[in-house]
Amino acid sequence: MTDFQPRPGQRVAGYDVTARRDTDYYAVFADIPAADREVWDRAKAYIDEVGTRMLDAWDTAAYPLDLAMRAGELDLFNDGIVHPDLTRFSPLAAGLVNMEISRGDGSLGTVLAVQGGLALRTLALFGSDEQQARWLVPIARGEVPASFALTEPDHGSDSVSLETVARRDATTGEWVLDGAKKWIGNGASGGITFVWARVEAEDEFHGAVRCFLVEQDTPGYTGTVITGKASLRGIHQAHIVLDGVRVAADAVLPGAQSFKDASTVLYSTRSGVAWSALGHATACYESALAYSQQRVQFGKPLAKFQMVQERLAQMLEELTAMQLYCRWMADLEERGQLRPTQASLAKYHNTRAARRIAAVARDMLGGNGILLENGVMQHMADIEAIHTYEGTESVQALLIGRDITGMSAFA
Ligand SMILES: Cc1cc2nc3c(=O)[nH]c(=O)nc-3n(C[C@H](O)[C@H](O)[C@H](O)COP(=O)(O)OP(=O)(O)OC[C@H]3O[C@@H](n4cnc5c(N)ncnc54)[C@H](O)[C@@H]3O)c2cc1C
Repeated sequence: MTDFQPRPGQRVAGYDVTARRDTDYYAVFADIPAADREVWDRAKAYIDEVGTRMLDAWDTAAYPLDLAMRAGELDLFNDGIVHPDLTRFSPLAAGLVNMEISRGDGSLGTVLAVQGGLALRTLALFGSDEQQARWLVPIARGEVPASFALTEPDHGSDSVSLETVARRDATTGEWVLDGAKKWIGNGASGGITFVWARVEAEDEFHGAVRCFLVEQDTPGYTGTVITGKASLRGIHQAHIVLDGVRVAADAVLPGAQSFKDASTVLYSTRSGVAWSALGHATACYESALAYSQQRVQFGKPLAKFQMVQERLAQMLEELTAMQLYCRWMADLEERGQLRPTQASLAKYHNTRAARRIAAVARDMLGGNGILLENGVMQHMADIEAIHTYEGTESVQALLIGRDITGMSAFA
């Protein structure tokens, strides 16, 4: 841009709309403890280090595993999980990491949700001492990509009805897994997969949903990268086929004994999605604000027009509400008082609000709003995935509705 020569019809070389502004109108994060701020700063440094290369990855639909796993080297995968072998993050620090990484790159935000939020948490909550000793730190450090396979091609919102089966071989004691899984982040990355399956056995667990640790190079395990995504293009999700996959008797996670245990993991990570939505929305709002201050039309910056100011005020109104949800949710969790449906309400509110903010920001950047280099379009596309995973908008509404009415409307 240094050799740019202004010409009639082009006065400026371009617009700087992606700089971080740390919008915090209500000082929601002004008083956070130094330890949490240090973790937040580490997440910012991570994004500053890898963000530009992730932009290329989104454009080309590549998955740079080294950039994704770098978060583990920086000890950013812990996601608030409490375990003696892991660095302790407060719920607030975990949320800020989710927010900051999604603010920078939604694909990396999803890696964090999968590697830390889902896979690491599953192992920390339900794994045996031996499983934890072997895999916990390598997953936390990003040395082994890990995935959480619950959803099936035929069972998304009703994953409680999953059909993947784990049969006990009466002779060897091994488990034999057959089934299919869809949308599994890191499911074809050469690491390990926590597979949720329905047990066929001659004991009290017959018919129960349990979780199995499967190394992805086990014969019969095939992970195929799902192509053609218009969201989260910088990371791969896999369609997994399990065809007579044999794992040892001790591959089952002893603490995972029913579908409720899978739900426990999902409840814990739902708050992370609310934070991710806040990160996306922050980026979109800040881009719209910066652009309106720089872009001149009708002889003055867009920001001088009343309608533009009103739109900015409306975006800030929603963004501040999202921040308050997140901060309060983290404080409740710190006190051990966060209920699952409170996390649902935050996810419900924040992903819906993020979609609205992104759509307005996209419009406020005019044609430049559809250019990947300006960020908003990518965030807008990435929000669509987080709006769906960890329970769709309608599923969250059903969970909240059941809680407030005492009546289930699921089926
Ligand atoms: C990018 C991405 C990453 C993912 N990563 C993982 C992962 O790592 N591991 C994993 O296990 N899963 C993963 N998922 C799966 C995700 O959890 C599911 O997509 C989600 O639960 C929704 O399921 P579905 O896509 O099958 O939609 P469906 O359940 O088929 O829903 C379709 C529509 O119907 C609505 N609907 C469904 N039931 C009802 C009802 N009772 N009443 C009213 N409306 C209803 C839904 O709200 C939705 O609008 C991922 C998904 C995506 C898109």
